[in-house]
Amino acid sequence: MPELPEVETIVRGLQKQIIGKKIVGIKVILPRIIRGEAEDFITLVLGTTIQKVWRRGKMIVVGLSTQRSILIHLKLTGQLVYISAELPITKHTHLILELSDGQQLRYLDVRQFGYLCLVDNSLVQELTPLGVEPLELSRDKFKALMQSRKALIKPFLLNQSFIAGIGNIYADEILHKAGIHPLQRTHTLGQMQIAKLYQAMQEVLRQAIEQKGSSIRDYVDSSGQQGDYQRYHQVYQRQGQPCLTCHEKIVRVKIGGRSSHFCPRCQEEERR
Ligand SMILES: [Zn+2]
Repeated sequence: MPELPEVETIVRGLQKQIIGKKIVGIKVILPRIIRGEAEDFITLVLGTTIQKVWRRGKMIVVGLSTQRSILIHLKLTGQLVYISAELPITKHTHLILELSDGQQLRYLDVRQFGYLCLVDNSLVQELTPLGVEPLELSRDKFKALMQSRKALIKPFLLNQSFIAGIGNIYADEILHKAGIHPLQRTHTLGQMQIAKLYQAMQEVLRQAIEQKGSSIRDYVDSSGQQGDYQRYHQVYQRQGQPCLTCHEKIVRVKIGGRSSHFCPRCQEEERR
């Protein structure tokens, strides 16, 4: 699933591509990709101008000229691409916004778990994740957050109501960089571990954004380009391969129903 770096990359692309453009046509190919009535969506979106594009957690928010916003969640395989109207409409294209510059914004989704929904701006806060943005979080607030729970660190990082935007790829990479075992409990993290974890979270997410995200499965940015960060993965989906630091074999275990990849030597479990 696209996580914070991938969604941030898409948003940065769209900010250059669609802001100021008017929506002059809408084609809904798969109505159920829209939450709510597709007809209402068309009526209320048609003729508006795109004023803002921003990210909250893993969600894309497209602010319109009418005090309304389109919320887009790509879930597993959603794609949002800015493309010439002349290019053929490919399979899995479910919705098309025709823009005043002759280009189109197309929503594609192989698995169809993603969705779009139109909401009043006053509801955006309520309908997007509650958790803090990791790149806007201070070290002190992060420390307080860690010490406020007795949760396993891996599921904690994935919980969108604590920290928004981190998914399975980046949780594994962040824990590896910090040298922390995914089953350690948050309240048992020492000062040094919390400092390392905070630093790793900042570095991994920022570097992944610089590399325009990780292209696992279907992820592409708003220009249809793949990301590069998968080349830098240290543990994610590297089970059985040697750790790039210590040569121990990377292992994969299920934690909270999700696969976790880590190095048993670099990320030894600390019990207190
Ligand atoms: Zn190692």
